[in-house]
Amino acid sequence: MFIDSHCHINFNGMIQRLPDILEQMRVNAVTHALCVSVDLETFPSVLEIAHTYPHIFASVGVHPGYEHARDPDVTELVSLAQDPKVIAIGETGLDYYSFKGKTLDALAWQQKRFRTHIQAALASGKPLIIHTRSAAQDTLRIMREEGAAAVGGVIHCFTETWDIAQAALELNFFISISGIVTFKNATQIQEVAQKVPLEHLLIETDSPYLTPVPYRGKLNEPAHVSHIGRFIALLRNIDIAQLGSSTSANFFRLFCGSNF
Ligand SMILES: [Zn+2]
Repeated sequence: MFIDSHCHINFNGMIQRLPDILEQMRVNAVTHALCVSVDLETFPSVLEIAHTYPHIFASVGVHPGYEHARDPDVTELVSLAQDPKVIAIGETGLDYYSFKGKTLDALAWQQKRFRTHIQAALASGKPLIIHTRSAAQDTLRIMREEGAAAVGGVIHCFTETWDIAQAALELNFFISISGIVTFKNATQIQEVAQKVPLEHLLIETDSPYLTPVPYRGKLNEPAHVSHIGRFIALLRNIDIAQLGSSTSANFFRLFCGSNF
């Protein structure tokens, strides 16, 4: 059993294939998936999928790369997060990579948006889904300044060093590994995937992006998380079933507050 802790099956190109995507999950023993919100404009489509299918969950938030998306305030996020199928706030965080050449002053909106999401997570008691790219130190600093450790969450699609992973673990965050771990040159991520304590590890596809080996060239989908799980189990030299059940139990412990 595996769970895809981060996917975007409401995206154009995915939603049209939803029956097939769900069938492929079933065939590959992928029992649940978290469909992650990237802006408020498309949040209703995320929520609709979660309301239609008991094994699909939703989050609410505005992605740091979506410069022109409408900015929510804390009250609005908290109110949207009250839906029982909304189990997390995000994806939020900082993404300097997509805005190369811009000054930090020009990216002040990103930091403000990130702080709003952390405050909403604290107010609603729902954990954070954090995206960080070329901004690790600022991400950690803002997490500390806003007290994000009190609510916790996950650094999704982790691509940073083991040092950064340790700092995130100390802040009560989980580390989620995507299909990038299967790429030949991904030695840094493979190191992290080996070292993260099993009880703080999650796995994800981030589909439709980041198709793992050996499906490169095809669209990614939640069923492929089983392949990512298998790859990490081999890296850690543990049973595939153990990797699957541990990461699934972690998912429920973090997002649903219970041990399944
Ligand atoms: Zn995402």
